[in-house]
Amino acid sequence: MLEAAGLQKSFGQTRVLRGVDLAVPAGTVSVLIGPSGSGKTTVLRCLNALERPESGVVRIGDVSVDFSALPQQGRRAAVRAEARLRAQSGMVFQAHHLFPHRTALENLLEGPVVVQGRPREEARAEALVLLERVGLAGREDALPSQLSGGQQQRVGIARALAIRPQVVLFDEPTSALDPELVGEVLAVMRDLAEQGTTMVVVTHEIRFAQQVADQVLFLDGGVVVERGPAAQVIADPREERTRRFLRRLL
Ligand code: ATP
Repeated sequence: MLEAAGLQKSFGQTRVLRGVDLAVPAGTVSVLIGPSGSGKTTVLRCLNALERPESGVVRIGDVSVDFSALPQQGRRAAVRAEARLRAQSGMVFQAHHLFPHRTALENLLEGPVVVQGRPREEARAEALVLLERVGLAGREDALPSQLSGGQQQRVGIARALAIRPQVVLFDEPTSALDPELVGEVLAVMRDLAEQGTTMVVVTHEIRFAQQVADQVLFLDGGVVVERGPAAQVIADPREERTRRFLRRLL
């Protein structure tokens, strides 16, 4: 359902991704772990076409983009191809990036109504269901500033779901939260996983990875050093680099 092959990305002279492959079957959760600067966020941003890798192919559902072929297609065709790919995934950021002067509900309507052009009433009904799903029934008229950090992040998750994405990409969704708020966000993510949402999650929450991930990928220096079920990669890693990273974390 989501496949990436041969992703390479540099920022200036710095090679950040050196050929990353990823395959995420529908209804499964893949967790990316790795040291700071290993390229985890850049992988997510390439999957969502927020960054343009120099080469590599990303396919989500029936939309496929070959990034090495984009420059030859002309600027407008390239931007259209990236927009089509971006529409396949919902992104949850470290900081929630909600519109500060819009209510929780209005934040959820932006994607489906303004970007996708869906009827407002239909989008509104669906948004209310999504807010209930993330435990925020009755808070639809609250502004972000009237919600706790954990609640804001749950609105961010509901907003990512509002565009009916094929896959939800989470970029360290709990790392900016006070420790006592982390649990409620992870609980919502656990629910989504149980309901069969396809997810790619960058996180340092190793316990979450152990409990929820179908696949764990350890990234270091812009390559996937090791991948497999959590029971193998986390509990019994094969590679010395993975072992060293986990020793520091656990
Ligand atoms: P962290 O766990 O600290 O978030 P990460 O594994 O997600 O790290 P990335 O954020 O993908 O790593 O960054 C990988 C490397 O790319 C880092 O060296 C970073 O400084 C560099 N980098 C990322 N984005 C840019 C950018 N827009 N311009 C220049 N360098 C960048």
